Amino acid sequence: MPDFAEPLARLIDALKHLPGIGQKSAQRIAFHVLRAGREDAERLAQALLDVKDKLGLCRLCNNISDSDLCLYCRDAGRDPKVVCVVEEPTNIVGIETTRQYEGRYHVLHGALSPLRGIGPESLKIKGLVERIGQGEIQEVIVATNPTVEGEATAVYLARLLKPLGVKVSRIAMGVPVGSDLEFADEVTMSKAMEGRREM
Ligand code: ZN
Repeated sequence: MPDFAEPLARLIDALKHLPGIGQKSAQRIAFHVLRAGREDAERLAQALLDVKDKLGLCRLCNNISDSDLCLYCRDAGRDPKVVCVVEEPTNIVGIETTRQYEGRYHVLHGALSPLRGIGPESLKIKGLVERIGQGEIQEVIVATNPTVEGEATAVYLARLLKPLGVKVSRIAMGVPVGSDLEFADEVTMSKAMEGRREM
């Protein structure tokens, strides 16, 4: 690894810890910051600090928020009868890009994983049960990831929530759009068959 002046080496090292950034990219970004104006560097540093200082979790759904309630919980235009459960706040972005979902959310901040010692008490499930207890929610859509952990979490939630009198549904899973059935693996194909719909 080449030798850099200490502050530059420190910046490169910090950047390398970011996901998807290797040594080369870290160097390129560091030199870019070095060449850029002080205002640009300040804006970047302040944005990084603000993310840590000014953001918290929504009181209702645990989404990332800069106030007591997140923008989805604040939005009176969204259907309070439907709640979509996701593992991480970033999953909301994926669902929102479809522009088809108009309900509320609930973020678990993880998925059940007995192997890694993550049980129901490690997830934000209690708040969801409390929300359902308030009586307004009629349907819970479980949109956890199609992984072993995500599936285990979905099964757990269905067992826990159905007795509370709400409809619990799971998002459909299967063959990616634009792909070829030939390349679908066994599990994906069987999920696709399971999730078929009448036409
Ligand atoms: Zn919220």
